Amino acid sequence: MTPFNYQHPTSIAEALNSVGPGARFIAGGTNLVDLMKENIERPERLIDLSGLGLDSVQSTADGGVLIGALVSNADLAWHPLIERDYPLLSEAILAGASPQLRNMASTGGNLLQRTRCYYFYDTGTPCNKREPGSGCPARTGLNRIHAILGASEACVATHPSDMCVALAALEAVVHVQSLRGTRCVAFKDFHRLPGDAPERDNQLDDDELITAIELPPARFAEHARYLKIRDRASYAFALISVAAALELRGDVIQQARLALGGVAHKPWRNEAAEALMQGQTVSPALFARVAKLVLEDAVPLDHNGFKVELAERAIIRALTEAALGAPHGGNTP
Ligand SMILES: Cc1cc2nc3c(=O)[nH]c(=O)nc-3n(C[C@H](O)[C@H](O)[C@H](O)COP(=O)(O)OP(=O)(O)OC[C@H]3O[C@@H](n4cnc5c(N)ncnc54)[C@H](O)[C@@H]3O)c2cc1C
Repeated sequence: MTPFNYQHPTSIAEALNSVGPGARFIAGGTNLVDLMKENIERPERLIDLSGLGLDSVQSTADGGVLIGALVSNADLAWHPLIERDYPLLSEAILAGASPQLRNMASTGGNLLQRTRCYYFYDTGTPCNKREPGSGCPARTGLNRIHAILGASEACVATHPSDMCVALAALEAVVHVQSLRGTRCVAFKDFHRLPGDAPERDNQLDDDELITAIELPPARFAEHARYLKIRDRASYAFALISVAAALELRGDVIQQARLALGGVAHKPWRNEAAEALMQGQTVSPALFARVAKLVLEDAVPLDHNGFKVELAERAIIRALTEAALGAPHGGNTP
């Protein structure tokens, strides 16, 4: 690991004034420190965010919730407000990593974790995300875990987060601050597709700090499901995941939200598929049509063709289970 300096600001202003060339924020460190050990990230200065006090979960005036960027994944998943009103989010967080990691990992850091593409982590191989312009061996190499939607010639990596898939379905808003001011970014616009600049995972500038994530008033507390399909039953990233949320009156869908993980460079939403469900009666045939629509533009690689059918089946199952109810209080650590 390359030597670095360490700063521990106690206010947002102090943290933002510390930003500069070679500096990186650090929250839980569960991703950044790994990347430093692997020589993928070589910051000269770390700005520790743990003294900024961004660690509360509060109700907002309009009935939503504001989650501080430093709230740990564990505290968020088990927060009574989140368990009661946003069980989809609790379920997604608890499907990820391990209890120890969730105790350390922060809400803001979870959004910014890097891909788990093997070639990104292997500094002995080219990777456009790690070294722009060097190439993408995953396209023709080992690509079982890679993207089937929204990929580009330059990059077929996927975004690894579970929490972000639920946040996409719940239409979260990311609050951002820099010395230039504050701004809010809709979750669907926060992460990027790779295009010809896969080194950029998201819309955040280097000098910007995530201060909070806001959720709109809860509409999907009764009918939601996060389904994660992975190689091992725990402690593994998603091959496919589905966040399904329905607002029902009787059997009729008033509103539907659907997001997929493990399929693209960002949590994948298909608003046409959501619109297709609005006003329709819950049925296996409807959910099968939705699944076909979401996957109709899929472009599998040599080793991940199985993901297309797996994603279709996962969508149907997640929507079916969401229609039956949400897992209130049933989450396991
Ligand atoms: C073995 C292992 C298994 C895992 N399994 C899963 C899994 O199954 N599902 C899953 O979703 N995740 C999984 N993870 C990833 C884990 O969730 C992330 O590492 C974690 O969420 C990152 O949060 P952090 O606070 O530790 O971020 P850090 O490592 O501190 O930071 C990550 C990045 O975010 C930046 N950053 C952090 N906070 C801010 C902020 N407020 N504003 C601006 N920039 C910021 C840092 O500069 C850095 O670039 C796993 C991790 C490991 C090590």
